[in-house]
Amino acid sequence: ELRERVEDVVLDRRPDAGERLVQLAEQRKGAGRRREEDLAWRAEPVEKRLVHALVHGVTQYVIEDTEEIRVQIEQRGGRPIEVIEGPLMEGMNVVGDLLAASGEAARAKGKIVIATVKGDVHDIGKNIVSVVLQCNNYDIVNLGVMVPAERILQTALDEKADLIGLSGLITPSLEEMAHVAAQMQRQGFSIPLLIGGATTSRMHTAVKIAPRYEGPVLHVADASRSVAVCQALLSEEQSGRFVAEQRAQYERLRRQHASKKGPELISLAEARANPSDIDWHGYHPPRPKFLGRRELSRLDLAQVARYIDWGPFFKTWELAGPYPAILDDAVVGPQARRVFEDAQQMLARVIAERWLTASAVVGFYPANADGDDIVIFADESRHTRLFTWYGLRQQTRKPVIDGVARPNRALADFVAPSGTEDFLGLFAVTAGLGIEAREAIFARQHDDYDSILLKSLADRLAEASAEMLHERVRRDLWGYAPDEHLGTDQLVAEAYRGIRPAPGYPACPEHSVKREMFAVLQAERIGMNLTESLAMRPASSVSGFYFSHPQARYFNVGPIGRDQLTDHARRRGLEVATLERWLAPNLG
Ligand code: SAH
Repeated sequence: ELRERVEDVVLDRRPDAGERLVQLAEQRKGAGRRREEDLAWRAEPVEKRLVHALVHGVTQYVIEDTEEIRVQIEQRGGRPIEVIEGPLMEGMNVVGDLLAASGEAARAKGKIVIATVKGDVHDIGKNIVSVVLQCNNYDIVNLGVMVPAERILQTALDEKADLIGLSGLITPSLEEMAHVAAQMQRQGFSIPLLIGGATTSRMHTAVKIAPRYEGPVLHVADASRSVAVCQALLSEEQSGRFVAEQRAQYERLRRQHASKKGPELISLAEARANPSDIDWHGYHPPRPKFLGRRELSRLDLAQVARYIDWGPFFKTWELAGPYPAILDDAVVGPQARRVFEDAQQMLARVIAERWLTASAVVGFYPANADGDDIVIFADESRHTRLFTWYGLRQQTRKPVIDGVARPNRALADFVAPSGTEDFLGLFAVTAGLGIEAREAIFARQHDDYDSILLKSLADRLAEASAEMLHERVRRDLWGYAPDEHLGTDQLVAEAYRGIRPAPGYPACPEHSVKREMFAVLQAERIGMNLTESLAMRPASSVSGFYFSHPQARYFNVGPIGRDQLTDHARRRGLEVATLERWLAPNLG
């Protein structure tokens, strides 16, 4: 009846449609009155009322009822705890019985073994996925970080898992994921394999991982997608079609990838003839205040916190938008505000109660460019090499703008060639020292939210420490910008002289130099180390190099040619095949 009258109005079906709808609405008002009759339960004794409120989720009278019973209990000489142990517990028992009775509906929808792969320590995203799936009634076996393939697969067998989910953040993890897929094939698995994490992609999954395993292999872009994907995969009605569609789509992606030509590459020789335009004649590189390494232990976290760039914090929580505008966003604003307020509260405790310790080590060394490489010397005689940082040069054909070709950059362009006394800085900083103790407490309390919140804060503090340290380097330790005074926004926008490229990022995508860097800095002395895949531990850490030249800038190496691959392998005395694996993302 209601629908008919509403449709009459919407579809303009009769002249008196409006009146008739109002008429019906008048009658319906009575329904509201009928609801008041439901308040009969308010006449019951207070114990019964509390049970009723708990079972029906009515919060309206909870405070007065609880207070009433507390007074009663106190009057007969009891203690306030009896309020909880008595009527509140009784109510919860009724709730428990009702849930047990509806057990059919509450049974888990499927069991998922989920892990961050061997060599990788990043698990914020994976833990968010776990929580989201658990909330949607999936049974999750979360194996944590740095989990070898054998353990993932054995657990999947032991637990009779319906799905396996792999996560990873750094590029070497991509190879490890392909390895897990191959092992699943060898061991005769057939359950679906889900792939997620920052460096993963649909294309990479389709091209590099899916061909290794005949079972379903799927890339899951973020936690919010994971529920729909698991549901489709584990539903008897949907899964066949869903998997077939995915397979067809990944096959299309592979064909597209195979036929894609990619950007035009020039020869390495041509690229080298077109470097960044820097005039070294008459340039005097600034001199650091000291040479060698120096530890800066126990940074003042209250000071560090002022350097936090909050933008990426919201991305971690899958909330999209620039900070601070995101707090007032029409769609995600309320959620953003909530997690931000929780973060501020926790941050205050992290600082006041010293939940985390941040430490850094900085080193300055004589250095010179040698072609596309940078040689780092032990001392100013510049005879003994500490190590050579082998570089990569952009090899795509660059546009000519106003008659000037854009350069094919290499980081070595920003360091003076031999003959000019230049220097390079190295740094490693962590804000994750001591995090395990606090995590253990959260784990005991089954508090996933606070655990993830703390990790995301530790990451922010690590980046903020790197920012603060870099400022100190420019103003004091290297001292080439003593009068610099920039606000947080300007720091985030990198409006200063010099850069701090980090291995694994686009200008220096290959991670292995971290071994030499960590050795020279003796980073283990401040509690930092590297996994076999060159992930830093603690996970909330940053490391990189300091360049001081005013023209130094970030860039993306992008695709390189076979000629550069073989030349690079020869310079380093490495097998081409080894380097091919390490540079896979740049080899198309
Ligand atoms: N304010 C951000 C900064 C992180 S990304 C945050 O708090 O998360 C910026 C850092 O990544 C830089 O400081 C640099 O260390 C590294 N980086 C960015 N672009 C790079 C590139 N193209 N090559 C190498 N390193 C890069």
